[in-house]
Formats: sequence, structure tokens, C-alpha cells
Amino acid sequence: MQKVFLLKGKEKPVLHHHNWVYSGAIAKQDKGIGKGDMVMVCSNEGKFLAYGYYNEDSKIRVRLLEWDENVEINEAWWEEKIRNAYTLRKERVENEDTNAYRVIFSEGDALPGLIVDKYDEYLSVQFLTAGLEVRKEMIVSILQKVIPVKGIYERSDSNARTLEGLGMSVGVLYGEKPPSNLLVKENGLLVNTPIVEGQKSGYFLDQRENRKKVAAYTKGMKVLDCFSYTGGFSLNARKAGATEVWSVDSSASATEALSSNYKNNQLDCNEEHVITSDVFQFLRAAQQKNQHWDVIILDPPKLAPNRQNLPKAERAYKDLNLQAMLLMNSGDILATFSCSGSLSLEHFKQILAWAATDAGKELQFLEDLGHPIDHPVRAAFPESYYLKGVIARII
Ligand code: SAH
Repeated sequence: MQKVFLLKGKEKPVLHHHNWVYSGAIAKQDKGIGKGDMVMVCSNEGKFLAYGYYNEDSKIRVRLLEWDENVEINEAWWEEKIRNAYTLRKERVENEDTNAYRVIFSEGDALPGLIVDKYDEYLSVQFLTAGLEVRKEMIVSILQKVIPVKGIYERSDSNARTLEGLGMSVGVLYGEKPPSNLLVKENGLLVNTPIVEGQKSGYFLDQRENRKKVAAYTKGMKVLDCFSYTGGFSLNARKAGATEVWSVDSSASATEALSSNYKNNQLDCNEEHVITSDVFQFLRAAQQKNQHWDVIILDPPKLAPNRQNLPKAERAYKDLNLQAMLLMNSGDILATFSCSGSLSLEHFKQILAWAATDAGKELQFLEDLGHPIDHPVRAAFPESYYLKGVIARII
């Protein structure tokens, strides 16, 4: 196997089982290593450290998979990893109320670049690295074997592929194409999940537990669900007994799907409260009209795509939360989230504190929210921890 040698002093993260080796940590390497090839990563002196796959076109030059020199990374190795990840979800997540969840969460399951979501009888899969791109066929055949489904659909249309020098790739990999009216079960609710046409892999599975936790505050309340997408939080709140739920999203196809999701669950839907609009504008207009809700949910898209954008994103998170707080009174609940990996929970709470000061409100943190079981974070790779939120109260 071809070898990559690290610079002196750069072994530490590798020894701690971090998955990434940056180009800047490499001293030299054997000639002719192909895109996606498996390599042996060695210390400067040539001592074995780990196996991983290589990509000359990426700043993350090697993604590490195995730290035991005696283990061969063959088809059986991949199958065991995939089976292991699936078993956790089968045992801990799937039940009669929920048949949609993340089966493989990239570095969180020690399989860098691989995302597999199960939506009832279909899989939505993302191959985000060159090392996986060249092993796609093998991985699809293992998935078929381990997880019996009707169809496997590829949604490798994430920007992460560009950083790997890969183009976008979507389409059926096995079996049937998922229907656009596919209904999956989450928390006992039926949710229309357009795997082919939807955002990301079709639905935002990472908020399943948080939807339940937030819904617990909504009985008898008037709720505003901002960045609602197809209604994850709205439906859970309605089911929990919210008297009125308003949902706002800038995507017309998302709000359309949201309306049909109410019908799928025999829940009343007031079409006037399903609003296709920019949330920032909606909140400012609501202040002019003196509108009020008892519970406000803010689940924006990633506002900080990377660390460089953090200062700008900080201002956006602050403005968003400030605009919401300006609408709130004593006793009202704010459930607010960030899915920017580069923003820590502590930093996010600091931003909320600044927003509260500017809004002239006293904010009290009730619950910290994070990842569900099907989005596990490996101790060696804390960067996986991207979703954080709080439930807070104005006192
Ligand atoms: N809360 C949702 C997931 C939200 S994902 C759930 O539980 O499933 C973020 C959503 O924000 C997307 O649906 C996207 O269409 C929407 N969005 C992005 N920018 C927006 C803006 N400025 N105003 C309103 N919606 C926006």
C-alpha cells in the first residue's frame, strides 16, 4: 500500500482518532497515489499510524478509517461498520411512531463522507468524498444487503462535493425511485418527504427529538414556527394541543407540503397561517402590527457556512433573535436553534444574551437542546456536533 508521511509533530490528532489529515500536515508521500486510493499514514519516521483514503484535490488530503495496522479494509470491514450503525438505530430509534432516521452520520459513525437516511422503505444517500465516490457500487450493494428497502436514491448534490473536486450526482442507485408523495412516520405524525425534490436528503431528521421537546410547551398556546420547511415543529405543536400555529418559510414548495401534511394527519389547517415569506421581514412587519404569539420557534438554515463567516453569522443570529424577542412578553417561550457547526452552544447563548439586552428583555434558559441518537458524535471528532438550541423564557 502506498504511504503518506506526516511532518514531525503532526501525529497527535491522528493518534487521537480524528478523521482528517490536512495537506499542511504532510511531509512527503509515495508517487502516483490515485484519487480515492487507500493509503497508509505514517509518522515522519515511517511508523504506522492509520489507514485512510486519499484525495489530491481536497485540502483534507486523507480521511482516516482504521487505526489497527492488522485490519484490512475490505468489503467485510465496510459491511460490519454499516451493520453496526444500523443496529443502533433499529434498537434505539425505530419504533411504531417513527420510521425515518439517519442510519449513517459520516464521521459520527467513523465513516467520513457517508450519509444514509432511511425514509420508511427508501434510502436517501450522500457520497461526499472522493474515497466514497470510487466505492459507491460496493457500498450500495452492502446497503441493499443490510437494510432491505424498495429503493436507494442518491442525493450527492451538496456543496461539500465541490471541495473534493467532485460534481453533483443524483438519481436512482437501486430499485424504485422514491415517490414524491412518500409519507413517513415521525413521532406518530405522517410527514410528506419528497426525497427527490426536497431540500437536503428530503427532510430534517435531526430535529425529531427537539420537535417533541418544544411541543411540550405549546398546549393551549398560540405558536409561531419560523423557517418551518414542511412543518416538523408546526405539526408536533398542533398535535400537542396548540390552539393556533403560524408557519413561515420562504420556500413555496415547503409551505405547500406543510398544508398537505396537516391534511395527512387530519389536523385543521388555517391557510392564512401558512405563510410563504422571508422570516426577517415577517418579524419586522409583525412588530408594526403589534402581533403576538406565546411560543416562537426559530430554526434558520446554517447562517455560518464556515469559521470565516462566523462574525457575519453572529450578527444575523443576533438580529433574528432580537426581532423575535421584540415581539415577546413575560412568560413567553422562545425555542431557538443554530445548525452552524462553527458556532458553539456557549457562543450561541452569548449571542442570545446580547439580543435580550438589546430587546430590553430578561431571558432565562430552560433547556439546552442538541443531537438525537441517530446523529451521534464521536469523542475524537467533536466537529460533528453542529445542531444546538435552547428553550428559553422571557421573565
Ligand atoms: N424547521 C424545519 C427545518 C428548517 S430548515 C423543520 O423542522 O423541518 C430551514 C428552512 O428555512 C428551509 O425550509 C428554507 O426554505 C427556509 N429559509 C431559508 N432562508 C429563509 C428566510 N430568509 N426566510 C424564511 N425561510 C427561509
